Amino acid sequence: MNKSHRSVHFLSIAKELSQKFAPKAALWDRSREYCWENIDDLVDAGLMGMTIPKQYGGQSASFYDVVLVIEEIARGCALSARIVVESNMGGISAVIAYGTEEQKNYCAPLVLKGDKPAICITEPEAGSAATEMKTVAQKAGSKYILNGVKHWITGGGISKLHLIFARILDEEGQDLGIGGFLVHYDPANNIKPDGFTVARREHTLGLCGMPEAELHFNDLEVDEAFMLPTPSGFRRGFADLMNAYNSQRVGAGTIAMGIAAGSLDHAKRYMTDRHQFGRPLAEFQGLQWMIAEMDTSVHASRLLLYEAAKSAEEGKSQFPDPLLAARAKLFASESAIKVVSDALQLFGARGYGDQEPLERMYRDVRMFTIGGGTAQILKTQVGSRLLGIKAPQTRDGYLRLSGE
Ligand SMILES: Cc1cc2nc3c(=O)[nH]c(=O)nc-3n(C[C@H](O)[C@H](O)[C@H](O)COP(=O)(O)OP(=O)(O)OC[C@H]3O[C@@H](n4cnc5c(N)ncnc54)[C@H](O)[C@@H]3O)c2cc1C
Repeated sequence: MNKSHRSVHFLSIAKELSQKFAPKAALWDRSREYCWENIDDLVDAGLMGMTIPKQYGGQSASFYDVVLVIEEIARGCALSARIVVESNMGGISAVIAYGTEEQKNYCAPLVLKGDKPAICITEPEAGSAATEMKTVAQKAGSKYILNGVKHWITGGGISKLHLIFARILDEEGQDLGIGGFLVHYDPANNIKPDGFTVARREHTLGLCGMPEAELHFNDLEVDEAFMLPTPSGFRRGFADLMNAYNSQRVGAGTIAMGIAAGSLDHAKRYMTDRHQFGRPLAEFQGLQWMIAEMDTSVHASRLLLYEAAKSAEEGKSQFPDPLLAARAKLFASESAIKVVSDALQLFGARGYGDQEPLERMYRDVRMFTIGGGTAQILKTQVGSRLLGIKAPQTRDGYLRLSGE
């Protein structure tokens, strides 16, 4: 299959699954249960780990292919779209880019069989200022001993593979920089590393089927073979890890855009069906203008996201360009909130109730200006890159070195 046939193939699978997932999206939302049954479908369709190279069992799909898939799935079930993002972008893409053969051969099968890896960066005292993280990994012979707390970890409690960001200390306790450590946690199969605790789950506004958890590490031992090598060394390890994270950022923006696109589909349908003042809503010019603005926002987001995703194939790195990824996620996440809010408005009271999916989509879409780098931090990244200055705000991977 050539590139464009492959994209069409993935797109048609995703459309089919989205229609299958949509009717149950409200169930996962209300029950706050993880959509395990959708995982089986995603695995069977080859959408879990589709970006993993063929030699490790995946399909070597591009980030652009994943973006096409994510939009379709997000139209029907944003929860499932998050699983597609995190099984193809972010943590697993860092492993594929930087990992040893042993690490790739260990992690790829987990994802291909249905695991959505967790990426563990944020801490109670280190949110946007991620490099102020306090979790440490102290070297002790051939192991690292991890201590610290991470919170708002997507999938905490259901994910098996964890990529944990920690401050690396040498045997004398000297701070060497930030690195990533791979930890496998699967209590159902008796894989329970000592010192790894899922402490609590957050109660969230939207995307309620996905656990967001606090994780505690107390003298958690990780063999040095499971420290992810970063090409620029320890000092710039955080920048390398965040570079990989640009793929997840594009994925998150695409979920927001997909939810917006789905809400627009619902709004167009309702404007034809619903009559007031003796005519369909679609005949009121003010509402036509709303639809035009919503469609323009979705389409502009889509193009920015495509551009960012494709930059991974064209650029210096195998990941999306940081400026294009930040710009695309910023625009897609902010504009999607407005689009979904307008779609809900077009349904009147019906949009506010749970007979229609709009109220859920409205809650789901709200997250994307926060998780994965807030809109404010992304603006700082875009602005500082355009102006050619290094921003001390750190989610772009700029790590303050002592003396800087
Ligand atoms: C649903 C969800 C899922 C998440 N999943 C994960 C995950 O899987 N892994 C993970 O590691 N983290 C995850 N996070 C955490 C997320 O990355 C952080 O919430 C985010 O980086 C912001 O950190 P904070 O919440 O501590 O806000 P803070 O950093 O405390 O920011 C508070 C406010 O101040 C603004 N602000 C802060 N600094 C600046 C500045 N320099 N200039 C301008 N404005 C500023 C922010 O934009 C924000 O509006 C998730 C969050 C959510 C909501």
